[in-house]
Amino acid sequence: MSLSEDFRLPVACPSCGSHLMRVSQVKNPDDEVHCASCHRLICLWHEAQTVLKKGPGSESEALIEKAVNRTGN
Ligand SMILES: [Zn+2]
Repeated sequence: MSLSEDFRLPVACPSCGSHLMRVSQVKNPDDEVHCASCHRLICLWHEAQTVLKKGPGSESEALIEKAVNRTGN
């Protein structure tokens, strides 16, 4: 039984270029979103939601870049 689910993020993973991300089914705002392919920590769920609303573009890319740099992995 899986307790996580995959979704497609408009911004690609900076490590492997995949758009497929994974988040817990609970989807708390502070839940971590990981790349489904290389498992890198990308951002938090509330940030992913913002990017999903905005769609692809420089604003979304900047948000993800900032989140990735903050996690530092
Ligand atoms: Zn990745």
